[in-house]
Amino acid sequence: MASDTLKMFSRGLAWFIPYLLRQGLHTFYAMYHGWTYHATSNPKHIVVIGGSFAGLELVKRLTQTIPTGYKVIWIEKNSHLNYVFAFPRFSVVQGLEGRAFIPYTGVEAGAPEGCLRKIQGVVTGVFMGEEGGKVTLQGGEEVAFEYLVLATGSTQPLPVQVSSTEREDACKELQGVQSVIEESQTIAILGGGAVGVELASDIKDFYQDKEVTLVHSRDQLLNRFGPRLQDHTLTALRNELGVRVLLGERPRLPSGGESSMTRNARLVFKDGREEAFDLVIGCTGQRPNSSILATAYPGSLCGKSSRILVQPTLQILTNNTITAFPATTHPTPNRSERVFALGDVAAHPGPLMARAGVVQSEIVVQNILSLINGQPAKKIYKPNWFIEGAIKLTLGKTHYAIYARDGGEKETGDEVMIVSKKGKVDLDVGMAWRQYGVGKEFAKAKRGDVGLSA
Ligand SMILES: Cc1cc2nc3c(=O)[nH]c(=O)nc-3n(C[C@H](O)[C@H](O)[C@H](O)COP(=O)(O)OP(=O)(O)OC[C@H]3O[C@@H](n4cnc5c(N)ncnc54)[C@H](O)[C@@H]3O)c2cc1C
Repeated sequence: MASDTLKMFSRGLAWFIPYLLRQGLHTFYAMYHGWTYHATSNPKHIVVIGGSFAGLELVKRLTQTIPTGYKVIWIEKNSHLNYVFAFPRFSVVQGLEGRAFIPYTGVEAGAPEGCLRKIQGVVTGVFMGEEGGKVTLQGGEEVAFEYLVLATGSTQPLPVQVSSTEREDACKELQGVQSVIEESQTIAILGGGAVGVELASDIKDFYQDKEVTLVHSRDQLLNRFGPRLQDHTLTALRNELGVRVLLGERPRLPSGGESSMTRNARLVFKDGREEAFDLVIGCTGQRPNSSILATAYPGSLCGKSSRILVQPTLQILTNNTITAFPATTHPTPNRSERVFALGDVAAHPGPLMARAGVVQSEIVVQNILSLINGQPAKKIYKPNWFIEGAIKLTLGKTHYAIYARDGGEKETGDEVMIVSKKGKVDLDVGMAWRQYGVGKEFAKAKRGDVGLSA
C-alpha cells in the first residue's frame, strides 16, 4: 500500500508538473490573447459540438488561442455540464442532485468579447459542399463552419445519463430514480462496469436492508480494468457490503426489456430459473452520438462501434466519400482535414474516460492553429493509459479505490491502487465547480441544494 502510494504519487507528479507548467503558460498566453484578439464583423467559424469534458476544455482553450478573424461557435444541447461521475451517487442519495449540474458561465465569462457564441441546441446534421461546411440545428438554424469538431460523446439511459436538457427537469429525473429505489426492496442491477458497481454498492450501503443483486455477463467485473481492481471490488461488494454478485449471466427481461428501469420485473437466467425483482436497472449499452456525420462522411463511422474513425491527429478518417449539400449536384474537394472528433465519440486508441478527452482537446487546438497558419496538422495523440485511464471508483458511502495501470484494455501492465474509507457523500463535487470557474456559485448551490437555479 505504501509503495502504491509512492508509485501513484511519483507517476502522477511526473505527468502533473509539466501539465501545471503548461497550464501556467496557457494562463499567461490567455491574458495576452485577451488583449490582442479583436472581434470582426465576418469571422470564420470554428464550430464545436458538445460541451462535456472534452468539448468544454476544447472551447476554453480555443477561446484562449484563436487569431482575430475566427470565432468559436459552441453548440451544446444541455443548459449545464452534466457531471455524470456523480450520477450513480445522486440517484441514490436524496437532496444533492443539483450539485451534479455545473453552470457553463465560468467558461463563457473567460472568453474575450466576440470570440465565443454559445448556442443551446441540438445539431441534427453536418453537410459539406462547394460553399464550405455547415451544420443544421433542430429548429432549422444553419451555422457555416471553416473548422468543425465533434465532441458529442455517447448516450445511455437513466440513471447513467438524463434526457432532460434543462437543469430543473434533469434534477427531477434523478429525484424520480431516488424515489423508485427507495420504494423497492429487491433490486437487480444489470452490468458490472463502473456505473453498475457504484450504483449497487451505494444502494446497499445507504439502504442496508434492501436486497441488491449485481448481474454481469463476464466472469469478472469491470472488464475495462485490471485484476487488482476487479478482485478488490468483488470482495468489497460481497464480503463488506453484502451485495449478491452473479457473474457469467446475461439474463433475459421478459417484459419491458428495452427500458433501463423496470419495476416488478422477472429475470430469466441461463439455467432457466426465473427471479422476480421490485426493480431492475440496466447499466449497459453506450450509444456513440455519431450519426450527425452520416450524411457528409458515411465512411467515417466505424461499422462495429459506430464511433467516428480518426487519424492520430484526431482529424476524421474518410474514404473520400463526400455527399454534397442536398441542393448541389457537383462533388467538392475533400475538406475532411478540417473536421475533427475527440472524446468518447471518437474511435481513438485511448481510454473512454474524461481525462483522455481533455488531453485530446489540446491536440485538436494545436492542429487547428497549425491549419489556420497554413501548416499541416502535426500533433499526434498517443494515449497515456496510466494517467488518462485512472479511475476513482466508489464502493459505498465512504469506501473508494483510486486505480491506474499501464497498458490498454487488452494488456495489463503495472497496476497501482490506493484504497480509502474517507470518501465524502457529495464526492467532493465542489472541486469540479471550482475547476470550471464557478466555485462561488457552488457555495450558493450548497445553501439551496434542492431546486437551486444557476
Ligand atoms: C458514472 C460514471 C463515472 C465515470 N467516472 C470517470 C472517472 O472517474 N474518470 C474519468 O476520466 N472518466 C469517468 N467516466 C467516463 C466519462 O464520464 C466519459 O469518458 C466522458 O463523459 C466523455 O466525455 P465526452 O465529452 O467525450 O462526451 P460526453 O460526456 O458523452 O458528452 C457529450 C456532450 O455532447 C452533447 N451532445 C451530444 N450530441 C449532441 C448534438 N447532436 N447536439 C448538441 N450537443 C450534443 C451532450 O449533451 C454532451 O454534453 C465516468 C462515466 C460515468 C457514467
